[in-house]
Amino acid sequence: MIRYQLTCAAAHGFDGWFRSSADFDGQAERGLLSCPACGSAEVRKALMAPALATASDVPGPALAAPSPAEPVTLVSEKDRALRAMLRELREHVTRTAEDVGDRFPEVARQIHAEEIEPRSVYGRATFEEAKALAEEGVPVHPLPRFPDDGN
Ligand SMILES: [Zn+2]
Repeated sequence: MIRYQLTCAAAHGFDGWFRSSADFDGQAERGLLSCPACGSAEVRKALMAPALATASDVPGPALAAPSPAEPVTLVSEKDRALRAMLRELREHVTRTAEDVGDRFPEVARQIHAEEIEPRSVYGRATFEEAKALAEEGVPVHPLPRFPDDGN
């Protein structure tokens, strides 16, 4: 058996085992070879890499092993951009607004009622508090949180 490193029209690399050089040529000519990654039948030898193998190692005459998996990222570009945007928004708010902590619902109401000087504030509110504020017409917005913020 001879091992050839093969490549397809889209430059995917994979291995194929053949009885002989003529066996490869014959299979390629008849379009029996195809890329395991994209299915392209335009397969050619990338590099001569003959190697010996015993018959028991190789079940088929043209066993093509898929190339190692591509590295993958967990976060898509789109998610990354969105996350960066949210982070920027949050940083803008925390830089320009006053942190009133747990007093947020109280202060937000006072500002809304014009009892105190209007300003941007941020702080903590429970879901119920935020909902109550929204129902009273107080313009509150949730700030995006990130898993690495801690609590
Ligand atoms: Zn391919």
